[in-house]
Amino acid sequence: MLRIQKFTFNPIQENMYVLYDETKECVIIDPGCYFDNEEKKLQNFIEENKLVPKYLLNTHCHLDHICGNAFVSKTWHLSLSANPLDAYNLDLSIKAGISYNMPIAPSPPISLELQEGDTVRFGNISLDVLFTPGHCSGHIAFYNDAHKVLISGDCLFRESIGRTDLPGGDWDTLIESIQTKLFTLPEDTTVYSGHGQETTIGYEMRNNPFFK
Ligand SMILES: [Zn+2]
Repeated sequence: MLRIQKFTFNPIQENMYVLYDETKECVIIDPGCYFDNEEKKLQNFIEENKLVPKYLLNTHCHLDHICGNAFVSKTWHLSLSANPLDAYNLDLSIKAGISYNMPIAPSPPISLELQEGDTVRFGNISLDVLFTPGHCSGHIAFYNDAHKVLISGDCLFRESIGRTDLPGGDWDTLIESIQTKLFTLPEDTTVYSGHGQETTIGYEMRNNPFFK
């Protein structure tokens, strides 16, 4: 049984997720923990539930999604898994951190490259990697078919979509990613976004103002 723990962290209020099952193996997606108390909260959750982190995953490498990469990598001895086309954002995030008054420890580099069609496995759970560029060049989403769960990063939000004005962003590409990769999933798929509340694919197909 897939279980999902959401934390909303850092001044940009980003949603990070811990996915786990009865085997206690887990993956940590987009760790946005920034302040000491946020790191502590994440660590307490992992320890109290006796979870064993297997992968550190990024949907993309914007500052608010990777500011906890260094902490997670060091604490649980994990290398970083992400799409290689987003490596440029790891470099930019250092500068972005300074300009947003949110300086960060450098993330480890992308060691395990995730591409469309790859599968991430932990416990009895598998996540399909969907390549969903547009918000940035190397954005990916994670889909679990058995439980109809999508971790959508900053591609699709409840009644909104990701911004496309940052380096590597492209409006047409984002729209195409959502239409061809996300709106082709079952309508009762629950969408866990990088910001804001959960939604479903069917709700967004009918109510998202960017697709009317
Ligand atoms: Zn982003």
